[in-house]
Amino acid sequence: MYDVIIIGGGPAGLSAAMLLGRCRRKVIVLDSGEPRNRWSDSMNGFLSSDGMSPADFIAKSRSEMDKYNIELKTTIVTSAKHSKGEFVVNDEEGTVYRSRKLLLATGLKDKVPELEGIEPLYGKSVHHCPYCDGWESQDKQIAVYGKDRKGVGQALGMKTWSDHITLYTDGTRSLTKADMELLQRNDVAVCTDAIARLEGEGSQLQYIVLRNGEKRPQQAMFFSTGSMQQSPLGESLGCEFTNKGVIKTRRLQESNIPGLYVAGDAARDMQLVIVAAAEGAKAGVAINMVLQKEDRK
Ligand SMILES: Cc1cc2nc3c(=O)[nH]c(=O)nc-3n(C[C@H](O)[C@H](O)[C@H](O)COP(=O)(O)OP(=O)(O)OC[C@H]3O[C@@H](n4cnc5c(N)ncnc54)[C@H](O)[C@@H]3O)c2cc1C
Repeated sequence: MYDVIIIGGGPAGLSAAMLLGRCRRKVIVLDSGEPRNRWSDSMNGFLSSDGMSPADFIAKSRSEMDKYNIELKTTIVTSAKHSKGEFVVNDEEGTVYRSRKLLLATGLKDKVPELEGIEPLYGKSVHHCPYCDGWESQDKQIAVYGKDRKGVGQALGMKTWSDHITLYTDGTRSLTKADMELLQRNDVAVCTDAIARLEGEGSQLQYIVLRNGEKRPQQAMFFSTGSMQQSPLGESLGCEFTNKGVIKTRRLQESNIPGLYVAGDAARDMQLVIVAAAEGAKAGVAINMVLQKEDRK
């Protein structure tokens, strides 16, 4: 019987594990090794480790678990249940784990636009988050990819980082006259033609090639196509979700299920590594405080 099972070993899960380890709790982290930012070479905006490679960050964080006797296992969790005051978790190998509390830190995955040529560019010169990669793209020729009105907001927002913004709607014509006027007033160009493919050299985007054969030079792309839960476990456990597809959590990362906490991108709040790590720490403290109360005679 573990005090806490943590599903997901990204920044949220590992940060919670460290806190709980420091509280001398018996903890296991079950992780399938696919953190959301694994496509990127740099983790930007994390105080003291700005620009560090995401892989190095995870490796360093995992090595810090040894001191606290945290068990780390690479595996996919296939089911989790809450029954008779305990959590029962199964993994792909058929191993069954039991715990008093459960932390879901399973993250999100992005709906990457299905564009020919995008794969080597994603995370390097094609991004979704301006707070993560806007600085590195400053003053560049930036394409914003958005088939609906979210693209308008993102295109206008990107003006913080560059004056050279073009919104690509990839063949859809859903923008209203007011949208078009707003974009024009703010010097955002609009291209409504369908895209044939992206062309680049290595991981650097160079051109957006339209179906009509036109080749438009672009140095970076930001898309606004959304994200979804990486794992269905939140749903199968009965968690309440917001209309944006993240799990509703209270102040200390508690979900609506007693004993089940959710931290990081899977939960409500900003989706940044430093926020995920902070939420993990909050969940760790909250879980320890509840365990302390339960153990008091
Ligand atoms: C391309 C890209 C670049 C980014 N760049 C930045 C940046 O520069 N700065 C920044 O602050 N943020 C950046 N982000 C956002 C950042 O990746 C997330 O905010 C952060 O990873 C969230 O941490 P997390 O621990 O919640 O989830 P994740 O890091 O996604 O970790 C979740 C973990 O859970 C595991 N998991 C999921 N389901 C299961 C299961 N069933 N069983 C076992 N394990 C499971 C996954 O394998 C994964 O290891 C970027 C995101 C992307 C996509």
